[in-house]
Amino acid sequence: MAVALYGVAVGGGIAVGRAHIIKPGMKDAPHYAVEDAEIAAEVARYEDAIKTTRRQLEQLRNNIPENAPTELGAFISLHIMLLNDATISRDPIDIIEEKKINAEWALSQQIDILSAQFDSIADDYLHARKQDMLQVVERVFKNLMGIDTNDFVPEQEDLFEDTVLVAADLSPADTVFFKDNRIAAFVTDFGGASSHTAILGRGLNMPSIISLRHASDLISENEVVIVDGIDGVVILQPDEFLLKEYRRRAREFRSRQRELNKLKDTAATTQDNVPIEILANIAAADNMAEVAKNAADGVGLYRSEFLFLNRDIAPTEDEQYREYAKIIKKAAGKPVTIRTMDLGADKNPRWFAQTHGLNPAMGLVGVRLSLAEPQMFRTQMRAILRAAQHGEVQIMWPMISSLTEVRQCLVHLQMAKDQLADSGIAFNPNVSVGVMIETPAAALMVGSLLKMVDFVSIGSNDLVQYTLAVDRANKDVAALYQAAHPAVLKLMLHILRTANRMEKTVSICGEMAGDPIFARLLLGMGFRHFSMQPAKMLAFKEIVLSCNVEQLENKIVPILKNDDPAKMPELLEKLNKFQAA
Ligand code: PEP
Ligand code: MG
Repeated sequence: MAVALYGVAVGGGIAVGRAHIIKPGMKDAPHYAVEDAEIAAEVARYEDAIKTTRRQLEQLRNNIPENAPTELGAFISLHIMLLNDATISRDPIDIIEEKKINAEWALSQQIDILSAQFDSIADDYLHARKQDMLQVVERVFKNLMGIDTNDFVPEQEDLFEDTVLVAADLSPADTVFFKDNRIAAFVTDFGGASSHTAILGRGLNMPSIISLRHASDLISENEVVIVDGIDGVVILQPDEFLLKEYRRRAREFRSRQRELNKLKDTAATTQDNVPIEILANIAAADNMAEVAKNAADGVGLYRSEFLFLNRDIAPTEDEQYREYAKIIKKAAGKPVTIRTMDLGADKNPRWFAQTHGLNPAMGLVGVRLSLAEPQMFRTQMRAILRAAQHGEVQIMWPMISSLTEVRQCLVHLQMAKDQLADSGIAFNPNVSVGVMIETPAAALMVGSLLKMVDFVSIGSNDLVQYTLAVDRANKDVAALYQAAHPAVLKLMLHILRTANRMEKTVSICGEMAGDPIFARLLLGMGFRHFSMQPAKMLAFKEIVLSCNVEQLENKIVPILKNDDPAKMPELLEKLNKFQAA
């Protein structure tokens, strides 16, 4: 049966190919003592490895293919600089001599020392260089072990038409060969959205997904995989049906993209002149390029927790401020909704020790975790308030299930403002606040919640999960995960009507918002504000332009009256066919 892995899409498009796994080397470092008489030879072996590594990197820098991303030369120079630093070129030699141990062991001890130093650096840029240091060391290590440093490029005869590279992580140097070696896509376990791998993935404009966590363990050599760089999904063991479907999608992707791009500057207004707001879901400042490319009306959901993942310490207030300010400035006057960190369950930061319990999704997640760590929560809100000087900002709290939580959030927000004011730090106190409606409790209490906040946004991904008691990440119950289940629609309608009556904004920011299957239904129900992945916006706009919402209001009556989930797919199909006709 097909298995789907979810990560962060950094390069668009779809590829179907055979996996080539790039094995990490350092895990298997041999450890042994070295006799006095052999120490000099061991040191010479290390020095040779350094020399070889330097030569390889210089060769790479001198032979950068014309079609490689422009940043590549700079990245390789950075690696040469790190290699030449005494911490890598000299200190391991001292360890060999002092502890009388083999070079690989000495190098791995030095990595531990350097890693700890990097982890204690508050500066964001320097902290991010840890990955570069590890990549350089990995190369030295491979040279010590006699492992081919180009082993990520399969032998030509082994190459299938489309090779999907699968790695724990890839260094900038690794990507040099991509264009010339029929690499169709790459996926990695690690890497933040602003890691070098991600930057290069975007520049290479090939389907690429990072932060897949266990992809390199789960995917086997030569296995056929589908890399969906649009949704950030890798599909393993695809059956014939899926393969055919994705091959077709890959072919269609480009020509359709060209067509949709023509809608970029068209206002999203229905046939009967109802304006529809189309906002973007983002996970990092880097995504703002896509936001602009697809002419979003603003950011409806910034999943700020991604700034807290894939790292060994939590970001400082200043680092957060810089990232938020970057996004807000890039939004150029358009509104930005920053969701405070929605951590827990499947988004566990390394730096935060947590017990998981039997049902992690019902544990310390979303706002609950923030309220349990008030310092961290206020630090984030201070950073947001400071960044809010640069544009129109809304703060949104995730996973709300009671008025008590909102009351506490408001207290912490006020405290964050007071702290800034007391310290004489500039900030914008006029941010509007809202909550995500992701639990049935919040949906049913929306009227009372809206008395306390300015807006609500429906997180349909979780609202479906918690309403139907179906784990959104569990493939065994995937068939039961029905976004348009009658129970979910009833809750959504209640939320919408209540917000409209109270003249407060209600948006949808879960995957349902950008799914074309539900677009007409949601427009007919009366939703006017949608937030989705940038790549989905133009297709959604195309539907908006074709719709007459007054007609849709009547057409969806049978759907809203239907209580049988089994009948829903057919009813939706009928609605979509009608409108498309
Ligand atoms: C949601 O639950 O619909 C949502 C937008 O939040 P996330 O998917 O990040 O949980
Ligand atoms: Mg959610």
